[in-house]
Amino acid sequence: MGYKFIDNYREQGARKKLVEELKRKGIEDAHVLAAIGKITRHFFFDETFWNQAYKDIAFPIGEGQTISQPYTVAYQTELLHIKKGDKVLEIGTGSGYQTCVLIEVGAKVYTIERQEKLYERTKLILPKMGYKAKFFLGDGSKGIASHAPYDKIIVTAGAPTVPEILLNQLNIGGILVIPVGDEQSQKMVTILKVGEHDYEKHVLDTFRFVPLVGERAW
Ligand code: SAM
Repeated sequence: MGYKFIDNYREQGARKKLVEELKRKGIEDAHVLAAIGKITRHFFFDETFWNQAYKDIAFPIGEGQTISQPYTVAYQTELLHIKKGDKVLEIGTGSGYQTCVLIEVGAKVYTIERQEKLYERTKLILPKMGYKAKFFLGDGSKGIASHAPYDKIIVTAGAPTVPEILLNQLNIGGILVIPVGDEQSQKMVTILKVGEHDYEKHVLDTFRFVPLVGERAW
């Protein structure tokens, strides 16, 4: 991949249009919209595909995986209600675009990816773009117990059920956002941990993610 870190007027203009499109689609959180407006998503693409970077679509990033659709990234981030300094576990680093959005809205991010090539690539690119996170290689379906608890947990791949082990790694008052369903489609689920063993669950819109593959998943 021939990455170039140049932000031209054309890409800046396309980014503004993307923000307007996400507003029209229902994204309201000003911090999330500002993050989308700031992050140079085309840096995650080979220059040949820069004309695709600000379309509201998922796009292949290699290893059979995708950079998530901007709407999906914004939707999940909005549901997390990030406060500045929140400790966030992201499961499924992928390209790192979602990681950048989390950092922009104020999170301290621990992110885990099971595919080594993606892990290596993203760990290299994000610091070059000025984004610092803690990167882990491994099966995130088990969370990362050694760094728990987290204020928020976001899963960016589709799970068959909610892995209970993730709920154990949440602080009280914490939120888990996870797409749950079969391999064809998933419902976005949010779980608020209100007490040590008490949870409030909400089932929201339908999405289609690549599968969460691991011990506590598919
Ligand atoms: N959020 C990413 C972005 O903005 O580009 C896209 C994530 S992609 C839709 C889902 C990612 O989850 C893939 O990179 C996949 O390899 C990873 N994944 C799937 N199962 C996993 C697991 N058990 N642990 C860690 N990562 C996993």
